[in-house]
Amino acid sequence: MHYATAMSDNVVDPSAMSPTQVVVTGATGFIASHLVRDLLAAGHRVRGTVRSLAATDSHAHLRALPGAAERLELVEADLLVPGSFDTAVAGASHVFHTASPYRLDVRDPQRELVEPAVQGTINVLGACTASPVLRRVVLTSSFAAIADHPIRMHVFTEDDWNGVSSLRRNAYAYSKAEAERAAWSFMQAAARSFDLVSINPTVVIGPALGPGTSTSNQIFVDVAAGAYPGIMALDFGIVDVRDVALAHVRAMEVAEAEGRYLCASDVLSMRAIVAIMREELPPTVRLPTRPLDNAFGTTVAKLAAQFQPPGVRSFLRTNLGRALQLDASKARRDLGIEFRPVRESVLDTVRDLVARGEIPGAMAGTPAGS
Ligand code: NDP
Repeated sequence: MHYATAMSDNVVDPSAMSPTQVVVTGATGFIASHLVRDLLAAGHRVRGTVRSLAATDSHAHLRALPGAAERLELVEADLLVPGSFDTAVAGASHVFHTASPYRLDVRDPQRELVEPAVQGTINVLGACTASPVLRRVVLTSSFAAIADHPIRMHVFTEDDWNGVSSLRRNAYAYSKAEAERAAWSFMQAAARSFDLVSINPTVVIGPALGPGTSTSNQIFVDVAAGAYPGIMALDFGIVDVRDVALAHVRAMEVAEAEGRYLCASDVLSMRAIVAIMREELPPTVRLPTRPLDNAFGTTVAKLAAQFQPPGVRSFLRTNLGRALQLDASKARRDLGIEFRPVRESVLDTVRDLVARGEIPGAMAGTPAGS
């Protein structure tokens, strides 16, 4: 199998694949910003969709990327507006559909999560069917479409599907599972020139290119801000945003890529995350110390979870006290990804958050970047 980008250090090799016209939906996003950067670095012409061109603060970082002045075009499109992506995808050889709301706590999960995720995916795929030159759609799905809670002694792979989430239980995971299901069903039903590959990352962390803190990096801010009463029995599958961006690029480059790709470097317990954060952060940052990662602590934490907003409550109830196991060997093998060690990703994330002034008790400085 041939990888157009260099394999040894996960660095994009600009000379490797003929430049082509690609589309990235939700280009301002945490993951999409890294993807746009990598695609430009590889020499491609990138059309990114944003919800509002007038919101210049949200996309100034994209305009500043190397190659953006010559090869980045931004256009408006909204997941909920039928036909919104028709002109955006015209003439593209590859479409990366990353746009989808990623929030745990919403008032109306059907309207705020499920509809944009599912209808948006159908709108984008519908627009794609009108394009005879389109070769592949790479869908940013999620581990949440694989599972919403760990299962004892079970090692999750791409063969698993989340069939338990609902509007009341882990609604964000439900939106991702429904959107990916809708995408595969669409592919079976529609006559089209392209195939579909999905990227299913676990919790994505790492330095951000744009403003704001992603929902996933917010975990570190919450840990440092005292949102957790102690160290809880929680496991997180972790993957670096730079590796997730590269997985998308490889999913475009590797003609033989097919189906779903679970992207994860490793699983870290909350205790391990706090220990790595402690190494990096000054003593002025107060990190949780009370050991709640035991049977008693888990019982207490599950009871206390009822006072949390619905999204957090649901996540805690279904994840506390359960060990997570994953197997991301398909992405390693087919896409040639060497996932960064999670320790490195946690440290880079914490440094970036400190530099942005997001960690209470730590002095802000220059963003670490990547
Ligand atoms: P971000 O919130 O940073 O990016 C989401 C993007 O979706 C934004 O560009 C946002 O645009 C866009 N968007 C949301 N709603 C709409 C809409 N109605 N119309 C058009 N665009 C919309 O999230 P991430 O980068 O973290 O996530 C990107 C993708 O990766 C999502 O599909 C998410 O589910 C998936 N994912 C993320 C993981 C993570 O840990 N971060 C893990 C696994 C999967 P705007 O700027 O206008 O709000």
